[in-house]
Amino acid sequence: MPSLLAPTALLPSGWARDVRIDITEDGTIAAVTPGAEIAGDRVERLGGPVLPGMANVHSHAFQRAMAGLAEKRRDPADSFWTWRETMYRAAHAVGPDDLSAISSHLFIEMLKAGYTSVGEFHYLHNDPNGASYEDPAEMSVRLVHAAAETGIGLTVLPVLYMRAGFDDAALEPAQRRFAADEERLIRILESLRWHGRDSSSLRVGIAPHSLRAVSVDVVRHIATALPEETTIHIHVAEQEREVEDCLAATGARPVELLMAEAPVGPSWCLIHATHVVPDEIADIAASGAVAGLCPITEANLGDGVFPLSEFLTSGGRFGIGSDSNVTLSPWEELRLLEYGQRLVHGRRCLSLPDDGVGSIGGSLFRAAVAGGAAALGQPVGVIAEGFRADLLVLDPAKLAQPDAEEDDILDTAIFAGAALPVRDVMVGGIWRVRGGFHPGEEAARTAFTAALRRIAA
Ligand code: ZN
Repeated sequence: MPSLLAPTALLPSGWARDVRIDITEDGTIAAVTPGAEIAGDRVERLGGPVLPGMANVHSHAFQRAMAGLAEKRRDPADSFWTWRETMYRAAHAVGPDDLSAISSHLFIEMLKAGYTSVGEFHYLHNDPNGASYEDPAEMSVRLVHAAAETGIGLTVLPVLYMRAGFDDAALEPAQRRFAADEERLIRILESLRWHGRDSSSLRVGIAPHSLRAVSVDVVRHIATALPEETTIHIHVAEQEREVEDCLAATGARPVELLMAEAPVGPSWCLIHATHVVPDEIADIAASGAVAGLCPITEANLGDGVFPLSEFLTSGGRFGIGSDSNVTLSPWEELRLLEYGQRLVHGRRCLSLPDDGVGSIGGSLFRAAVAGGAAALGQPVGVIAEGFRADLLVLDPAKLAQPDAEEDDILDTAIFAGAALPVRDVMVGGIWRVRGGFHPGEEAARTAFTAALRRIAA
């Protein structure tokens, strides 16, 4: 049984020194012993502070192919909706082999940044003409294989996508690759379960795309037909226009409608939920659902700012997601999450409940790691017996305060970081990144570059 010795580690009880972590052959934490004697030659000494791996609750892998290419203003009224046109063009061009290359490269970048599991909100189901591949899960399976090859934990969330808007309009030609009704989704889930039967770090959930793309009646129908613990993610209230369209069509705001009509509970993750009023904030928090916040993408798209301090004061849970994958850094996501609050409120240190005090980095990291694990339905997020051994070792040389201790480590990594502070990354008891390097990264980079050239052509 491999054993590690961390000079300091973030445990459920707080920071501890000289922590011995014993791991079973199948990659589960067997025992955690603070203040351990250094004994035995099979104990590996780690080179920096040890944290639980971060969950990335929301990713669309294929969008990495357009990172940096949507930053030119093509229309004085440029907005989310013109970005979406660029995204649709990329979506149209990505074939199965391209998706394999893009996602393998992306998952390695995520691991190096400190994400040890990811939720793929996956809607690129069909071929470019809108026909199902021979295996309806062809594209989803590419993600499963990329995750297995690179070593990241995956919760794959095949998307239901049925209409172009609240008025039940038929899908636009650019949306035909996404089309999946309940029947098609069930076939995708069956295929995914078969392909993932040997993977211990794969979970399969579902994702009704949004109330724009799926009526709330269908959301309720499928959610009640599946086991209660099924992981369910949905985009909601990302843009003001979505709120206006939903109000016009149904008389209710999107979060209000979802909470009233669907069995939203602790296995749900509401992605963005940016535009919410106080009753909706309280309802999400009371349901136990996780808010899936993607601060970098939300800033990039001009979505708005989620009311985090109000939500935390209501007892709400959140995770973070890299969404469009324009930038990959949990540290930067958390920094921007707090900075958005500061800019809106004209105050500092806001990512705590109203009556809370303490480290903002510590509060953000603990909340995101716990909420993220819950949102992905993965046994991670805690360095404790029975959890999967997903660990990050930080590099003190990359921290602005190399001698930082306890929550100062997290404050420094999040707020004073330039480079990624991660040195080694373990997923399920296997080192996937050592010294900032993943053994598959060069081959993945070559294949990714070739895929980008095919897509551009
Ligand atoms: Zn998204």
